[in-house]
Amino acid sequence: MKRLLPVMLGLILAAVLVLISEQEPGRRFAPAGAVAGFGHSGRAADEPLNPAVAAPLPTLIAVAPQGFTSAPPGERPYVPILMYHYVRYVDRAADPLGFSLSVTPEQLDAQLGWLKAAGYETVRMDALAACMRGEGPCPLRAVALTFDDGYADAFTTALPILQRHGLVATFYIVSGFVGQPGYMGWPEIRALRDAGMEIGAHSMTHPDLTGLGLEELRAQVGQSGAAISAEVGQPVLSFCYPGGRFSDTVVAVTREAGYTSATTTIQDGPQSDPFTLPRLRISGDLTLEGLQWMVTSRLP
Ligand SMILES: [Zn+2]
Repeated sequence: MKRLLPVMLGLILAAVLVLISEQEPGRRFAPAGAVAGFGHSGRAADEPLNPAVAAPLPTLIAVAPQGFTSAPPGERPYVPILMYHYVRYVDRAADPLGFSLSVTPEQLDAQLGWLKAAGYETVRMDALAACMRGEGPCPLRAVALTFDDGYADAFTTALPILQRHGLVATFYIVSGFVGQPGYMGWPEIRALRDAGMEIGAHSMTHPDLTGLGLEELRAQVGQSGAAISAEVGQPVLSFCYPGGRFSDTVVAVTREAGYTSATTTIQDGPQSDPFTLPRLRISGDLTLEGLQWMVTSRLP
């Protein structure tokens, strides 16, 4: 019962907020054109069709379930941080790298469905960092979902699947790529925000930060977050090193810029430093059993 109480309060709050937003036309979560882009209209006729994925999407709610079940005070259970890039179909033979960076909508749907059914919750990186600083509750049994680079399919494909499962994720945006072909524009990024997703930063132009002079490094790290923050109207607290490349200087600059966490591409490892967080790479050839093992071996 103690565990259920925050969940119930969260649901009531979400319901109230949805009601409020219904009455305020100005609070619609995305332009009509952007919402019309939901679904899988871009799917080619010969692509595999999973009825679960192709089913009509539920009405999008303005407020995603926040909250997670808190661990007992003083306890900080391990939180596997899953790293995604694209959610799309790729021909493995034609584009092996693209294949490894992608999961299909069906794979993501199955993975999130299993996480949900197995009782895992999701935590945003800003909340995980607060937990690590001892300034916020820690989740009892949660994973963090992260999506790098701000590709267009984060909005068209990942978001509806996340919403169907009532899960939240952190999206790391490359500020200078916003609106370019293949990437989300600001309306789509604001739609993610309005759906309760966290918007993080991933530099201005995705360079190897370890190769930059101090001035350029500060600009890439600090100005990307500032630019995103100005567009989404919220602080940007979470950073992701492009290509996973970082050094002591890069970490120091990221910390100084005001972020509260930064993720790497280090595969697995301790979560002792919030600015060098390891992640678990979710590649196209990872089976559902592989993901289950990845998560349950770290967080039973
Ligand atoms: Zn990247």
